[in-house]
Amino acid sequence: MSLLRRGVERWQGGHPWIYRADLNGDPGLPGGEVVRVTDTRGWFLGKAFYSKHSKISLRWLSFDDVAVDADFFRERLLAADRLRQLALPGEKTYRLVHGEADGLPGLVVDRYGDFLSVQFLVPAMEQRKALIADLLQAQFNPRGIINRSDVGVRNLEGLTPEKGVLRGEHPGPVAFDEGLVKMRADLLEGQKTGAFLDQRENHVMAAHYAHGEALDCFSYVGGFALQLATRARHVTAIEISEAASAQLRENAAANKLNNLDVVVANAFDFLRDAVDEGKRFDTIVLDPPSFAKNKDAIPAAVRGYKEINLRALQLLRPGGILITASCTYHVDEQAFEDMLASAAADARRRVQIIERRGAGRDHPVLLNLRETRYLKCFVLRVL
Ligand code: SAH
Repeated sequence: MSLLRRGVERWQGGHPWIYRADLNGDPGLPGGEVVRVTDTRGWFLGKAFYSKHSKISLRWLSFDDVAVDADFFRERLLAADRLRQLALPGEKTYRLVHGEADGLPGLVVDRYGDFLSVQFLVPAMEQRKALIADLLQAQFNPRGIINRSDVGVRNLEGLTPEKGVLRGEHPGPVAFDEGLVKMRADLLEGQKTGAFLDQRENHVMAAHYAHGEALDCFSYVGGFALQLATRARHVTAIEISEAASAQLRENAAANKLNNLDVVVANAFDFLRDAVDEGKRFDTIVLDPPSFAKNKDAIPAAVRGYKEINLRALQLLRPGGILITASCTYHVDEQAFEDMLASAAADARRRVQIIERRGAGRDHPVLLNLRETRYLKCFVLRVL
């Protein structure tokens, strides 16, 4: 498959995605193939996955003319595993494969102790589902592999969302630890692959800063709220989903944390009412879902972020801590920081940046693919 000049420049510049417009004509393939990539004179550039339906036609696999077979995928899986052993020795719950950033485009594998939760996001990975499951089973010997490919991005690839048990047994809610807190997540019915593993290190960090009266908005099953409760006098957790709220209450009880109340509510409404009622807090966490799925939605997303961050800053007592996150990759770190600066100005508060964080070490960021640096998490202190 040959690339036009702009495609060649992108490829040689290290970008792992090539768009349809940069291909030299339509290759007339059904999609899901491993293809040899060349320039228009036939000069070899490397190997890639081909997608027919997606705007992203090619995804980098290798600069060399290697066989892309079972051994190839086994070696990539082992390399991904070596990073986690190095960065998180002894951990049992982490992201084992982070797609492109681990040289395995369109594949996500999360490990929860003895179980794996997997997403196949492009046709080439979807077609190799059985091979990947076999390799994971042979290498890591999990008690079960859950398929959580029930995500909208599959539609862009001409794939329908689906989920189920791929190998072994369905565990029901699985237990895992985050620092001192015991968590539970349902790998089949929970959000994402069961939990938000990208925030694990930030959850534990949050306990460090927690004090006084605390508020956690967009709590899910309590990743932040439970950590806050280990240190703060009292925590209010705001979550719109009944199912997540119920799991959060169970998690709090299992950890004997009685200083936590879960309110099933829209966090936007809660924050507005809290400001109107003159409530005050010492520690606030904001970890909303993604607000923009595409570039057109960026201005509305930034307005949404500004609204909740402005209100949180108004609610904090002097010396109060705001831990604020964004997982919208279309809103990059600079845009997020600019939004925070503008919220601080409107709230007429002086605000310090204590930490600028991202996803945990098990979510590597590929230098040439900014999209893999999607999670921002700032720790701020109000003077
Ligand atoms: N903070 C969690 C992850 C949050 S994911 C953690 O670290 O584990 C975002 C959560 O916000 C989801 O559980 C979703 O159900 C909830 N949510 C979405 N919109 C909401 C809203 N308007 N108000 C409150 N919760 C909302």
